[in-house]
Amino acid sequence: MTIKKIAINMGHPTSGIGTGAVGIVKETDKNREVGNKLIAKLNRYNVEVINCTIDYSSNDMAEACQRANDSGADVFISLHLNAGGGTGVETFYSHYSKQKCIDLAHKINSDLANTNILSPSRRCMDDMDYYGYNLYVLKNTVMDAVLVELGFVDNAKDTDRFNSEIIAETMCKSIVEFYNLDGNSNYVSPQAVPVSPVVQAHQTTGEYVIEDREEYGGTGICTITDPLGIFFYNTRGIGERSGSYECGEWVKYNRVITTNKYVYVSWISASTGIRRYMPVRDRSNGERWASCV
Ligand SMILES: [Zn+2]
Repeated sequence: MTIKKIAINMGHPTSGIGTGAVGIVKETDKNREVGNKLIAKLNRYNVEVINCTIDYSSNDMAEACQRANDSGADVFISLHLNAGGGTGVETFYSHYSKQKCIDLAHKINSDLANTNILSPSRRCMDDMDYYGYNLYVLKNTVMDAVLVELGFVDNAKDTDRFNSEIIAETMCKSIVEFYNLDGNSNYVSPQAVPVSPVVQAHQTTGEYVIEDREEYGGTGICTITDPLGIFFYNTRGIGERSGSYECGEWVKYNRVITTNKYVYVSWISASTGIRRYMPVRDRSNGERWASCV
């Protein structure tokens, strides 16, 4: 039993209507911390991750469900934090869930409850049995769906010990184990990537037409700053993604390439011997995904 696509929903919009719980911390801050790390971690595995987080909306739940349903995702995971007094983790699945989904919900809930960050387990149950109604995102997504409440925003015990890294790592491990996901063979830890200079003619086509291509022999360290990480590409076609690095990781590059669209850094992979290209800045809108020195 494995899956091809996972939809991750980070709860509520940050602006618009229904912006989530606010206590000592804001729900929308904390579920995004966890969600962005979870996506970066899942990218290390052989699964496509669909980000179904809606940042601005007056109807975010419908939009999130539509994005998930349109994507053909196999499973939908919605990340929330609780409010109203209490402590620990709880997880819900739909009244209409199949056994597989119920099993996933129980695994995620018990794995999280076993961390010091989110113990104890408050409950893992059918939404109708607990609330007396169906939770919107569980009822309106067509795939297996679970909703996790990652502690309480208004309880200092939970906010003091909150650790998005441990929560994301635990959830990633639960999902990987449950679906038996394989590692992404293109993913290489950048700490294991020394560089050596090469001379290589390079022509490529991809998602856009490369014009005004120029290469420079710049060397340095490039640290990924985008919470979602950055994809890199191999020699044969910048348009084809070969793997990714996650936020906070770094690479040593020895070449800088500019095109009409992007600025890339480039280096030789020690593990494959293939030159990699990673876009770090969009020249058309100034957007940056990494900090290069
Ligand atoms: Zn919520």
